[in-house]
Amino acid sequence: MAEANYPLLRRRLFSWFRRHQRDLPWRHSADPYAIWISETMLQQTQVKTVLPYYGRFIDTFPTVAALAGAPLQKVLRLWSGLGYYRRAENLHKAARQIMRQHGGVMPRAYDQLRALPGIGDYTAGALLSIAFGESYPAVDGNVRRVLGRLLGAKSNAEIHACAAKVAKTNQSGNLNQALMELGATLCTPREPRCVDCPVASLCLGRDDCGRIEPAKASTKYRAVTWPQAIVVYNRQILLRRRQSRGLLAKLWELPGAELAASATIAGTMAKELRQLQLGRAKPARLGELRHSITDRRILAPVLLYRWPVKRSAPVADPNWRWIAPAQLQRYATSSLTAKAVKLFLDYEKSSV
Ligand code: SF4
Repeated sequence: MAEANYPLLRRRLFSWFRRHQRDLPWRHSADPYAIWISETMLQQTQVKTVLPYYGRFIDTFPTVAALAGAPLQKVLRLWSGLGYYRRAENLHKAARQIMRQHGGVMPRAYDQLRALPGIGDYTAGALLSIAFGESYPAVDGNVRRVLGRLLGAKSNAEIHACAAKVAKTNQSGNLNQALMELGATLCTPREPRCVDCPVASLCLGRDDCGRIEPAKASTKYRAVTWPQAIVVYNRQILLRRRQSRGLLAKLWELPGAELAASATIAGTMAKELRQLQLGRAKPARLGELRHSITDRRILAPVLLYRWPVKRSAPVADPNWRWIAPAQLQRYATSSLTAKAVKLFLDYEKSSV
């Protein structure tokens, strides 16, 4: 599309966005902190999943200071089930950095935003344009797809250059949000609704999206088996805390592990439960769950071990804890743990 048409493109986007944007809670706020939280939650996560988390998070931590002053476990607990937990840890670290370096006020310079943990080029652009009214592009997956089709831009560099030009307006926050909204609702990856699109007459990719699709690195998924042990003693189950680095860092989980190549479930669980001295205890298999964590497509057999009644249950390690299943929501866990505990509770209910 010729640059001469950009003003017309913007006008059509603004007018469509005014009439058709979804009513989302973060769109009622001009608070840079609230916008930062929503943009972080929306990374790789659908709007309908984010909605309840956003409300709870903002109610619990309404300001940078409240977030910075909270213990990390409380932040992770509110994030439980939303996935990509590094985001929560980075928000917490960044809030503390904002308190230390910027007096508790969100910085409004690109370099200062980029220096905060978890803030990349997209989030910095979204904050500068939406929260601070600066002319910055914000290119997420939706915007990349829309501009790739609309302008015929193919490489990422070309798309970013186009985005920067299109966003040169005193309403770049609305412009970026309109492009995101168009990508989320009409210009979807499969079957874009070109007949309803406000910019169809300007679009180079109209009705021909397959051919003008910008190159995209395809995600490689790994099939993984990850057994989950429900160890029961005196109506309590055993949780343990994961290490402070790596996948699901610092979250609580059921004992278990991703199976190494050629390892068996029995061998892996014997190793994982070694310190409990369950001996050759044969677990009951309650069922299998399917779950995704980042690039892992997990098959999770849920195994029930009953702790021998005569022996007292060990809790010497502070990273292992016996809890009543009803207390699970007080712990920061991934939703795989929550699903496995629910399966156990359903099993217990059906066996009385
Ligand atoms: S006309 Fe079709 S391909 Fe072009 S921006 Fe609109 S929905 Fe996307």
